[in-house]
Amino acid sequence: MSRPVRVRFAPSPTGPLHIGGVRTALYNFLFARKHSGTMILRIEDTDQNRFVPGAEAYIIEALKWVGIEIEEGPENGGPHAPYRQSERKGMYAQYAYDLVERGFAYYAFDTEEDLEQMRKRLEASQMQPAYDSISRMSMKNSLTLPADDVKARIDSGAPYVIRIKLPRKEEVRFHDSIRGWVTVNSAQLDDKVLLKSDGMPTYHLANVVDDYLMGISHVIRGEEWLPSAPLHVMLYRYLGWEEVMPVFAHLPLLLKPEGNGKLSKRDGDRLGFPVFPLQWTDSKTGEVSSGYRESGYFPDAVANMLALLGWHPSDNRELFSMDELIEAFSLEKVSKSGAKFDVQKAYWFNQQYLQQESTAEVAAMIKPQMMATGYNASDAYLEQVVVLMREKVQFAKDIITEGTYFFEEPENYDADVVAKKWKPETGEHINGIRLQFAELSETASAAEYENSFKTYCEEKGVKTGELLQPLRLAVSGKGAGAPIWETIALIGKQNILQRLENAVGKISFSKP
Ligand code: GLU
Repeated sequence: MSRPVRVRFAPSPTGPLHIGGVRTALYNFLFARKHSGTMILRIEDTDQNRFVPGAEAYIIEALKWVGIEIEEGPENGGPHAPYRQSERKGMYAQYAYDLVERGFAYYAFDTEEDLEQMRKRLEASQMQPAYDSISRMSMKNSLTLPADDVKARIDSGAPYVIRIKLPRKEEVRFHDSIRGWVTVNSAQLDDKVLLKSDGMPTYHLANVVDDYLMGISHVIRGEEWLPSAPLHVMLYRYLGWEEVMPVFAHLPLLLKPEGNGKLSKRDGDRLGFPVFPLQWTDSKTGEVSSGYRESGYFPDAVANMLALLGWHPSDNRELFSMDELIEAFSLEKVSKSGAKFDVQKAYWFNQQYLQQESTAEVAAMIKPQMMATGYNASDAYLEQVVVLMREKVQFAKDIITEGTYFFEEPENYDADVVAKKWKPETGEHINGIRLQFAELSETASAAEYENSFKTYCEEKGVKTGELLQPLRLAVSGKGAGAPIWETIALIGKQNILQRLENAVGKISFSKP
Protein backbone atom coordinates (compact mmCIF):
# COMPACT_ATOMS: atom_id res chain seq x y z
CA MET A 1 0.00 0.00 0.00
CA SER A 2 1.39 3.41 -0.83
CA ARG A 3 1.84 5.86 2.02
CA PRO A 4 -0.35 8.88 2.52
CA VAL A 5 1.02 11.92 0.74
CA ARG A 6 2.53 14.39 3.19
CA VAL A 7 4.61 17.24 1.80
CA ARG A 8 6.22 20.21 3.42
CA PHE A 9 7.36 23.66 2.48
CA ALA A 10 10.34 24.35 4.72
CA PRO A 11 11.55 27.93 4.36
CA SER A 12 14.19 29.56 6.52
CA PRO A 13 12.92 32.93 7.76
CA THR A 14 15.95 34.87 6.60
CA GLY A 15 14.09 37.61 4.72
CA PRO A 16 11.13 38.01 2.39
CA LEU A 17 10.14 34.88 0.51
CA HIS A 18 11.48 34.96 -3.05
CA ILE A 19 8.91 34.31 -5.79
CA GLY A 20 10.81 31.06 -6.57
CA GLY A 21 10.06 29.96 -3.01
CA VAL A 22 6.40 30.70 -3.60
CA ARG A 23 6.53 28.45 -6.64
CA THR A 24 8.08 25.66 -4.54
CA ALA A 25 5.28 26.05 -2.00
CA LEU A 26 2.70 26.09 -4.80
CA TYR A 27 3.99 22.84 -6.37
CA ASN A 28 3.93 21.18 -2.94
CA PHE A 29 0.37 22.39 -2.41
CA LEU A 30 -0.83 21.28 -5.85
CA PHE A 31 0.76 17.88 -5.35
CA ALA A 32 -0.75 17.46 -1.88
CA ARG A 33 -4.22 18.40 -3.08
CA LYS A 34 -4.01 16.26 -6.17
CA HIS A 35 -3.24 13.21 -4.03
CA SER A 36 -5.60 14.07 -1.16
CA GLY A 37 -2.53 14.58 0.98
CA THR A 38 -1.41 17.04 3.63
CA MET A 39 0.48 20.28 3.11
CA ILE A 40 2.79 21.20 5.95
CA LEU A 41 4.63 24.43 6.67
CA ARG A 42 7.80 23.97 8.67
CA ILE A 43 9.88 26.96 9.67
CA GLU A 44 13.59 26.09 9.53
CA ASP A 45 14.99 28.67 11.90
CA THR A 46 17.86 26.85 13.59
CA ASP A 47 20.39 29.36 12.26
CA GLN A 48 19.74 32.21 14.65
CA ASN A 49 22.43 34.37 13.00
CA ARG A 50 20.35 34.58 9.87
CA PHE A 51 17.01 35.03 11.60
CA VAL A 52 15.08 38.09 10.39
CA PRO A 53 12.16 39.39 12.47
CA GLY A 54 8.92 39.53 10.54
CA ALA A 55 10.06 37.02 7.92
CA GLU A 56 7.90 34.17 9.22
CA ALA A 57 4.77 36.33 9.35
CA TYR A 58 5.61 37.50 5.83
CA ILE A 59 5.89 33.91 4.57
CA ILE A 60 2.54 32.96 6.09
CA GLU A 61 0.80 36.02 4.68
CA ALA A 62 2.34 35.53 1.25
CA LEU A 63 1.20 31.90 1.03
CA LYS A 64 -2.32 32.90 2.05
CA TRP A 65 -2.42 35.68 -0.50
CA VAL A 66 -1.48 33.34 -3.35
CA GLY A 67 -4.11 30.84 -2.19
CA ILE A 68 -1.78 28.16 -0.82
CA GLU A 69 -3.49 26.54 2.12
CA ILE A 70 -1.53 24.98 4.94
CA GLU A 71 -2.98 22.06 6.88
CA GLU A 72 -0.25 21.70 9.51
CA GLY A 73 2.08 24.49 10.54
CA PRO A 74 3.03 27.03 13.20
CA GLU A 75 -0.33 28.78 12.87
CA ASN A 76 -2.71 25.83 12.77
CA GLY A 77 -0.66 23.32 14.76
CA GLY A 78 -1.06 19.62 13.99
CA PRO A 79 -0.08 16.15 15.19
CA HIS A 80 3.65 16.86 14.87
CA ALA A 81 3.73 20.29 16.51
CA PRO A 82 5.76 22.35 17.04
CA TYR A 83 6.44 23.22 13.41
CA ARG A 84 9.18 25.73 14.14
CA GLN A 85 12.60 24.09 14.41
CA SER A 86 13.76 26.53 17.07
CA GLU A 87 11.02 25.05 19.27
CA ARG A 88 12.17 21.51 18.48
CA LYS A 89 15.80 22.18 19.42
CA GLY A 90 15.96 19.38 21.97
CA MET A 91 14.90 16.70 19.51
CA TYR A 92 17.88 16.56 17.19
CA ALA A 93 21.06 16.00 19.19
CA GLN A 94 20.13 12.43 20.21
CA TYR A 95 20.24 11.31 16.59
CA ALA A 96 23.74 12.72 16.13
CA TYR A 97 25.01 10.95 19.27
CA ASP A 98 23.33 7.77 18.16
CA LEU A 99 25.21 7.96 14.87
CA VAL A 100 28.50 8.43 16.73
CA GLU A 101 27.78 5.41 18.85
CA ARG A 102 27.05 3.30 15.81
CA GLY A 103 30.18 4.45 13.99
CA PHE A 104 28.47 6.62 11.37
CA ALA A 105 29.58 9.93 12.81
CA TYR A 106 32.43 11.28 14.94
CA TYR A 107 33.43 14.09 17.25
CA ALA A 108 35.67 16.75 15.74
CA PHE A 109 37.62 19.18 17.93
CA ASP A 110 39.35 21.22 15.25
CA THR A 111 39.63 24.94 15.83
CA GLU A 112 39.02 27.57 13.16
CA GLU A 113 42.79 27.80 12.66
CA ASP A 114 43.09 24.04 12.24
CA LEU A 115 40.43 24.12 9.56
CA GLU A 116 42.00 27.09 7.83
CA GLN A 117 45.40 25.35 7.75
CA MET A 118 43.82 22.23 6.34
CA ARG A 119 42.17 24.21 3.55
CA LYS A 120 45.42 25.98 2.68
CA ARG A 121 47.32 22.71 2.70
CA LEU A 122 44.85 21.01 0.37
CA GLU A 123 44.56 23.98 -1.94
CA ALA A 124 48.35 24.16 -2.20
CA SER A 125 48.39 20.57 -3.44
CA GLN A 126 45.54 21.25 -5.89
CA MET A 127 43.04 19.24 -3.91
CA GLN A 128 39.47 19.99 -2.89
CA PRO A 129 39.69 21.84 0.43
CA ALA A 130 37.16 19.55 2.06
CA TYR A 131 36.91 17.80 5.41
CA ASP A 132 36.38 14.36 3.95
CA SER A 133 37.22 10.69 4.19
CA ILE A 134 40.88 11.42 3.41
CA SER A 135 41.59 14.73 5.10
CA ARG A 136 39.77 13.76 8.31
CA MET A 137 42.62 11.38 9.11
CA SER A 138 44.99 14.27 9.68
CA MET A 139 42.57 16.30 11.79
CA LYS A 140 41.69 16.36 15.49
CA ASN A 141 38.72 14.05 15.84
CA SER A 142 37.55 10.89 17.51
CA LEU A 143 38.82 8.85 14.56
CA THR A 144 42.41 10.04 15.01
CA LEU A 145 42.77 10.84 18.74
CA PRO A 146 43.11 8.11 21.36
CA ALA A 147 39.84 7.22 23.08
CA ASP A 148 40.96 8.55 26.48
CA ASP A 149 41.97 11.86 24.95
CA VAL A 150 38.55 12.14 23.31
CA LYS A 151 36.83 11.36 26.60
CA ALA A 152 38.99 13.84 28.52
CA ARG A 153 38.24 16.60 26.02
CA ILE A 154 34.51 15.98 26.18
CA ASP A 155 34.52 15.72 29.98
CA SER A 156 36.40 19.00 30.28
CA GLY A 157 33.78 20.72 28.16
CA ALA A 158 36.04 21.35 25.16
CA PRO A 159 33.97 22.48 22.17
CA TYR A 160 33.31 19.92 19.46
CA VAL A 161 31.05 19.32 16.50
CA ILE A 162 29.67 16.02 15.27
CA ARG A 163 30.42 15.17 11.65
CA ILE A 164 28.95 12.44 9.49
CA LYS A 165 31.47 9.73 8.56
CA LEU A 166 31.03 9.11 4.87
CA PRO A 167 32.54 6.10 3.10
CA ARG A 168 35.68 6.64 1.04
CA LYS A 169 34.31 5.50 -2.29
CA GLU A 170 30.77 4.37 -2.61
CA GLU A 171 28.04 5.08 -5.13
CA VAL A 172 25.16 6.98 -3.59
CA ARG A 173 22.16 6.50 -5.83
CA PHE A 174 18.63 7.80 -5.53
CA HIS A 175 15.68 8.41 -7.76
CA ASP A 176 14.42 11.91 -8.34
CA SER A 177 10.91 12.27 -9.79
CA ILE A 178 12.03 15.07 -12.07
CA ARG A 179 15.64 14.13 -12.84
CA GLY A 180 15.48 10.35 -12.86
CA TRP A 181 18.34 8.40 -11.30
CA VAL A 182 21.01 10.51 -9.68
CA THR A 183 24.33 8.89 -8.84
CA VAL A 184 27.11 10.55 -6.89
CA ASN A 185 30.27 8.99 -5.58
CA SER A 186 30.84 9.56 -1.88
CA ALA A 187 34.43 10.55 -2.73
CA GLN A 188 32.91 13.83 -3.94
CA LEU A 189 31.10 14.47 -0.68
CA ASP A 190 32.47 15.92 2.52
CA ASP A 191 31.85 14.96 6.12
CA LYS A 192 29.27 17.63 6.84
CA VAL A 193 28.72 18.89 10.38
CA LEU A 194 25.49 17.51 11.81
CA LEU A 195 25.61 19.01 15.29
CA LYS A 196 27.23 22.36 15.92
CA SER A 197 29.39 23.21 18.95
CA ASP A 198 26.46 25.04 20.55
CA GLY A 199 24.46 21.80 20.46
CA MET A 200 22.22 23.02 17.64
CA PRO A 201 21.66 20.85 14.58
CA THR A 202 22.73 22.01 11.14
CA TYR A 203 20.17 22.31 8.36
CA HIS A 204 20.97 18.77 7.15
CA LEU A 205 20.33 17.00 10.43
CA ALA A 206 17.25 18.98 11.42
CA ASN A 207 15.77 18.70 7.94
CA VAL A 208 16.15 14.92 7.68
CA VAL A 209 15.07 14.24 11.27
CA ASP A 210 11.97 16.39 10.85
CA ASP A 211 11.05 14.91 7.48
CA TYR A 212 11.24 11.50 9.14
CA LEU A 213 9.36 12.47 12.30
CA MET A 214 6.67 14.28 10.34
CA GLY A 215 6.13 11.35 7.99
CA ILE A 216 7.03 13.32 4.88
CA SER A 217 6.41 11.22 1.77
CA HIS A 218 7.76 13.59 -0.91
CA VAL A 219 10.44 16.26 -0.67
CA ILE A 220 9.69 18.80 -3.38
CA ARG A 221 12.23 21.61 -3.26
CA GLY A 222 14.46 23.84 -5.33
CA GLU A 223 17.36 22.60 -7.40
CA GLU A 224 19.81 24.36 -5.10
CA TRP A 225 19.27 21.49 -2.64
CA LEU A 226 20.15 18.77 -5.13
CA PRO A 227 23.83 18.70 -4.01
CA SER A 228 22.62 18.04 -0.43
CA ALA A 229 20.40 15.13 -1.42
CA PRO A 230 23.14 12.41 -1.46
CA LEU A 231 24.10 13.39 2.07
CA HIS A 232 20.45 13.20 3.10
CA VAL A 233 20.18 9.76 1.51
CA MET A 234 23.20 8.64 3.56
CA LEU A 235 21.61 10.03 6.70
CA TYR A 236 18.42 8.07 6.04
CA ARG A 237 20.52 4.96 5.57
CA TYR A 238 22.64 5.46 8.69
CA LEU A 239 19.66 6.37 10.84
CA GLY A 240 17.92 3.19 9.70
CA TRP A 241 15.09 5.02 7.97
CA GLU A 242 15.79 4.08 4.36
CA GLU A 243 12.48 2.23 4.05
CA VAL A 244 10.54 5.43 4.65
CA MET A 245 12.85 7.79 2.82
CA PRO A 246 10.76 10.39 0.99
CA VAL A 247 10.64 10.55 -2.78
CA PHE A 248 12.80 13.47 -3.94
CA ALA A 249 11.80 16.00 -6.59
CA HIS A 250 14.18 18.88 -7.26
CA LEU A 251 12.52 21.72 -9.13
CA PRO A 252 14.27 23.65 -11.90
CA LEU A 253 15.62 27.11 -11.15
CA LEU A 254 13.74 30.29 -11.97
CA LEU A 255 16.08 32.05 -14.35
CA LYS A 256 16.68 35.68 -15.23
CA PRO A 257 14.63 36.90 -18.20
CA GLU A 258 17.79 36.64 -20.35
CA GLY A 259 18.11 33.04 -19.24
CA ASN A 260 21.58 33.15 -17.70
CA GLY A 261 21.58 32.54 -13.98
CA LYS A 262 19.13 32.48 -11.15
CA LEU A 263 16.51 35.21 -10.90
CA SER A 264 17.69 37.59 -8.19
CA LYS A 265 16.32 40.56 -6.33
CA ARG A 266 18.62 42.77 -8.37
CA ASP A 267 17.05 41.58 -11.64
CA GLY A 268 13.71 42.77 -10.33
CA ASP A 269 15.14 46.19 -9.46
CA ARG A 270 16.93 46.37 -12.79
CA LEU A 271 14.01 45.33 -14.98
CA GLY A 272 11.18 46.78 -12.93
CA PHE A 273 9.16 43.79 -11.77
CA PRO A 274 8.67 42.36 -8.30
CA VAL A 275 10.59 39.28 -7.20
CA PHE A 276 8.65 39.08 -3.95
CA PRO A 277 4.97 38.23 -3.49
CA LEU A 278 4.33 41.08 -1.05
CA GLN A 279 6.09 44.36 -0.48
CA TRP A 280 8.93 44.09 2.03
CA THR A 281 10.67 46.79 4.01
CA ASP A 282 14.11 45.93 5.30
CA SER A 283 14.04 46.87 8.98
CA LYS A 284 17.75 47.70 9.04
CA THR A 285 18.20 49.73 5.88
CA GLY A 286 14.60 50.84 5.35
CA GLU A 287 14.92 49.68 1.74
CA VAL A 288 11.55 48.79 0.22
CA SER A 289 11.23 45.92 -2.25
CA SER A 290 8.11 45.83 -4.37
CA GLY A 291 5.59 43.01 -4.18
CA TYR A 292 3.15 41.47 -6.64
CA ARG A 293 0.24 42.29 -4.35
CA GLU A 294 1.08 45.97 -4.05
CA SER A 295 1.87 46.21 -7.77
CA GLY A 296 -1.75 45.31 -8.47
CA TYR A 297 -1.51 41.67 -9.53
CA PHE A 298 -4.41 39.33 -8.92
CA PRO A 299 -3.28 36.47 -6.66
CA ASP A 300 -4.87 33.92 -9.03
CA ALA A 301 -2.89 35.38 -11.91
CA VAL A 302 0.35 35.05 -9.93
CA ALA A 303 -0.44 31.44 -8.99
CA ASN A 304 -1.29 30.62 -12.61
CA MET A 305 1.87 32.26 -13.92
CA LEU A 306 4.10 30.55 -11.34
CA ALA A 307 2.57 27.14 -11.99
CA LEU A 308 3.60 27.39 -15.63
CA LEU A 309 7.16 28.45 -14.85
CA GLY A 310 8.66 24.99 -14.89
CA TRP A 311 5.60 22.81 -15.37
CA HIS A 312 3.77 22.11 -18.63
CA PRO A 313 0.29 20.68 -18.94
CA SER A 314 -0.25 17.98 -21.55
CA ASP A 315 -2.00 20.45 -23.87
CA ASN A 316 -1.01 24.03 -24.60
CA ARG A 317 -3.56 25.53 -22.29
CA GLU A 318 -2.39 28.49 -20.25
CA LEU A 319 -5.27 29.67 -18.09
CA PHE A 320 -5.97 27.56 -15.02
CA SER A 321 -7.91 28.20 -11.85
CA MET A 322 -6.36 26.74 -8.69
CA ASP A 323 -8.75 23.76 -8.87
CA GLU A 324 -7.82 23.17 -12.48
CA LEU A 325 -4.13 23.33 -11.62
CA ILE A 326 -4.66 20.73 -8.89
CA GLU A 327 -6.44 18.52 -11.38
CA ALA A 328 -3.77 18.85 -14.08
CA PHE A 329 -0.57 18.96 -12.01
CA SER A 330 1.99 16.17 -12.01
CA LEU A 331 5.67 16.05 -11.08
CA GLU A 332 6.42 14.11 -14.28
CA LYS A 333 5.54 17.20 -16.28
CA VAL A 334 7.94 19.43 -14.40
CA SER A 335 10.92 20.18 -16.62
CA LYS A 336 14.53 19.58 -15.70
CA SER A 337 15.83 22.76 -17.22
CA GLY A 338 15.45 26.20 -15.70
CA ALA A 339 12.41 28.34 -16.44
CA LYS A 340 13.01 31.85 -17.73
CA PHE A 341 11.03 34.52 -15.97
CA ASP A 342 9.07 36.56 -18.51
CA VAL A 343 7.67 39.86 -17.33
CA GLN A 344 5.51 40.35 -20.42
CA LYS A 345 3.90 37.02 -19.68
CA ALA A 346 3.26 38.12 -16.10
CA TYR A 347 1.44 41.20 -17.47
CA TRP A 348 -0.48 39.01 -19.88
CA PHE A 349 -1.68 36.71 -17.12
CA ASN A 350 -2.82 39.63 -15.05
CA GLN A 351 -4.67 41.08 -18.02
CA GLN A 352 -6.46 37.76 -18.60
CA TYR A 353 -7.62 37.70 -15.01
CA LEU A 354 -8.68 41.32 -15.24
CA GLN A 355 -10.97 40.37 -18.15
CA GLN A 356 -12.44 37.47 -16.22
CA GLU A 357 -13.21 39.38 -13.05
CA SER A 358 -16.75 40.77 -12.68
CA THR A 359 -17.20 44.44 -13.48
CA ALA A 360 -18.54 45.20 -10.01
CA GLU A 361 -15.54 43.54 -8.38
CA VAL A 362 -13.01 45.46 -10.44
CA ALA A 363 -14.91 48.69 -9.73
CA ALA A 364 -14.88 47.93 -6.00
CA MET A 365 -11.14 47.25 -6.19
CA ILE A 366 -10.30 50.60 -7.73
CA LYS A 367 -12.86 52.76 -5.96
CA PRO A 368 -10.46 53.62 -3.08
CA GLN A 369 -7.85 54.65 -5.65
CA MET A 370 -10.44 56.78 -7.46
CA MET A 371 -11.42 58.53 -4.23
CA ALA A 372 -7.79 59.02 -3.21
CA THR A 373 -7.10 60.66 -6.57
CA GLY A 374 -9.84 63.13 -5.74
CA TYR A 375 -12.39 61.85 -8.24
CA ASN A 376 -15.95 61.51 -7.18
CA ALA A 377 -18.15 59.36 -9.36
CA SER A 378 -21.07 57.05 -8.68
CA ASP A 379 -20.55 53.28 -8.56
CA ALA A 380 -22.62 52.93 -11.73
CA TYR A 381 -20.41 55.43 -13.54
CA LEU A 382 -17.22 53.74 -12.33
CA GLU A 383 -18.53 50.38 -13.51
CA GLN A 384 -19.09 51.85 -16.98
CA VAL A 385 -15.52 53.14 -16.95
CA VAL A 386 -14.36 49.61 -16.08
CA VAL A 387 -16.33 48.19 -19.01
CA LEU A 388 -14.75 50.66 -21.43
CA MET A 389 -11.19 50.50 -20.08
CA ARG A 390 -10.53 46.94 -18.94
CA GLU A 391 -9.44 45.66 -22.35
CA LYS A 392 -6.98 48.48 -22.73
CA VAL A 393 -4.98 47.90 -19.56
CA GLN A 394 -3.05 45.15 -17.81
CA PHE A 395 -3.73 46.21 -14.24
CA ALA A 396 -6.96 47.34 -12.62
CA LYS A 397 -5.23 50.40 -11.19
CA ASP A 398 -4.36 51.59 -14.72
CA ILE A 399 -8.08 52.08 -15.38
CA ILE A 400 -7.85 55.15 -13.16
CA THR A 401 -4.36 56.32 -14.08
CA GLU A 402 -4.91 55.93 -17.82
CA GLY A 403 -8.58 56.89 -17.79
CA THR A 404 -8.32 60.25 -16.04
CA TYR A 405 -10.42 61.79 -18.81
CA PHE A 406 -13.48 59.97 -17.54
CA PHE A 407 -13.24 62.01 -14.37
CA GLU A 408 -11.79 65.36 -15.36
CA GLU A 409 -11.20 67.55 -18.37
CA PRO A 410 -7.84 67.13 -20.05
CA GLU A 411 -5.34 69.69 -18.83
CA ASN A 412 -3.08 69.28 -21.78
CA TYR A 413 -3.09 67.60 -25.14
CA ASP A 414 -0.65 65.02 -26.48
CA ALA A 415 1.81 67.16 -28.42
CA ASP A 416 2.66 64.43 -30.95
CA VAL A 417 -0.97 63.96 -31.88
CA VAL A 418 -1.48 67.72 -32.11
CA ALA A 419 1.53 68.02 -34.41
CA LYS A 420 0.35 65.18 -36.63
CA LYS A 421 -3.40 65.66 -36.71
CA TRP A 422 -4.32 69.21 -35.89
CA LYS A 423 -4.54 71.05 -39.20
CA PRO A 424 -5.26 74.79 -39.66
CA GLU A 425 -8.94 74.02 -40.27
CA THR A 426 -9.36 71.42 -37.49
CA GLY A 427 -10.44 73.88 -34.82
CA GLU A 428 -13.28 75.04 -37.01
CA HIS A 429 -14.42 71.47 -37.61
CA ILE A 430 -14.36 70.61 -33.92
CA ASN A 431 -16.46 73.67 -33.36
CA GLY A 432 -18.87 72.48 -36.05
CA ILE A 433 -19.08 69.07 -34.44
CA ARG A 434 -19.79 70.75 -31.12
CA LEU A 435 -22.76 72.60 -32.64
CA GLN A 436 -23.98 69.35 -34.16
CA PHE A 437 -23.71 67.51 -30.80
CA ALA A 438 -25.57 70.35 -29.11
CA GLU A 439 -28.62 69.31 -31.11
CA LEU A 440 -28.65 65.85 -29.51
CA SER A 441 -30.61 64.93 -26.40
CA GLU A 442 -28.91 65.14 -22.99
CA THR A 443 -28.81 61.36 -22.81
CA ALA A 444 -27.77 60.64 -26.38
CA SER A 445 -26.35 57.19 -27.02
CA ALA A 446 -22.96 56.26 -28.45
CA ALA A 447 -24.63 55.47 -31.80
CA GLU A 448 -26.33 58.87 -31.88
CA TYR A 449 -23.02 60.68 -31.37
CA GLU A 450 -21.41 58.56 -34.02
CA ASN A 451 -24.18 59.29 -36.54
CA SER A 452 -24.10 62.96 -35.77
CA PHE A 453 -20.35 63.02 -36.37
CA LYS A 454 -20.67 61.09 -39.63
CA THR A 455 -23.38 63.43 -40.87
CA TYR A 456 -21.16 66.41 -40.14
CA CYS A 457 -18.24 64.86 -42.03
CA GLU A 458 -20.45 64.02 -45.02
CA GLU A 459 -21.90 67.51 -45.16
CA LYS A 460 -18.47 69.09 -45.08
CA GLY A 461 -16.92 66.53 -47.40
CA VAL A 462 -14.22 65.58 -44.89
CA LYS A 463 -13.05 62.04 -44.30
CA THR A 464 -14.07 60.78 -40.85
CA GLY A 465 -10.48 59.59 -40.39
CA GLU A 466 -9.33 63.23 -40.59
CA LEU A 467 -11.39 64.28 -37.61
CA LEU A 468 -11.69 61.23 -35.44
CA GLN A 469 -8.36 61.61 -33.67
CA PRO A 470 -8.68 65.37 -33.22
CA LEU A 471 -12.07 64.73 -31.64
CA ARG A 472 -10.58 62.12 -29.31
CA LEU A 473 -7.78 64.53 -28.49
CA ALA A 474 -10.26 67.27 -27.64
CA VAL A 475 -12.26 64.92 -25.41
CA SER A 476 -9.43 63.08 -23.67
CA GLY A 477 -6.17 64.87 -24.37
CA LYS A 478 -4.82 61.63 -25.86
CA GLY A 479 -4.48 59.99 -29.24
CA ALA A 480 -5.79 56.59 -28.14
CA GLY A 481 -7.93 55.08 -25.41
CA ALA A 482 -11.35 53.66 -24.68
CA PRO A 483 -13.95 53.31 -27.52
CA ILE A 484 -14.65 56.91 -28.43
CA TRP A 485 -18.45 56.99 -28.88
CA GLU A 486 -19.16 55.09 -25.67
CA THR A 487 -16.69 57.34 -23.90
CA ILE A 488 -18.43 60.47 -25.16
CA ALA A 489 -21.87 59.12 -24.26
CA LEU A 490 -20.69 58.27 -20.74
CA ILE A 491 -18.95 61.58 -20.08
CA GLY A 492 -22.23 63.24 -21.08
CA LYS A 493 -23.36 65.98 -23.42
CA GLN A 494 -22.74 69.12 -21.38
CA ASN A 495 -19.25 68.04 -20.36
CA ILE A 496 -18.40 67.10 -23.92
CA LEU A 497 -19.61 70.41 -25.34
CA GLN A 498 -17.46 72.18 -22.78
CA ARG A 499 -14.43 70.06 -23.61
CA LEU A 500 -14.74 70.69 -27.33
CA GLU A 501 -14.98 74.42 -26.74
CA ASN A 502 -11.95 74.38 -24.46
CA ALA A 503 -9.92 72.36 -26.91
CA VAL A 504 -10.59 74.75 -29.75
CA GLY A 505 -9.48 77.59 -27.52
CA LYS A 506 -6.37 75.85 -26.27
CA ILE A 507 -5.00 73.85 -29.19
CA SER A 508 -3.51 75.84 -31.96
CA PHE A 509 -2.14 74.62 -35.23
CA SER A 510 1.57 74.47 -35.18
CA LYS A 511 3.59 74.12 -38.33
CA PRO A 512 5.37 70.81 -38.34
N1 GLU B 1 15.28 25.44 4.85
C1 GLU B 1 15.55 25.08 3.50
C2 GLU B 1 15.24 26.30 2.65
O1 GLU B 1 15.33 27.37 3.14
C3 GLU B 1 14.71 23.89 3.13
C4 GLU B 1 15.18 23.13 1.94
C5 GLU B 1 14.37 21.85 1.83
O2 GLU B 1 13.22 21.94 1.41
O3 GLU B 1 14.89 20.81 2.21
O4 GLU B 1 14.89 26.24 1.49
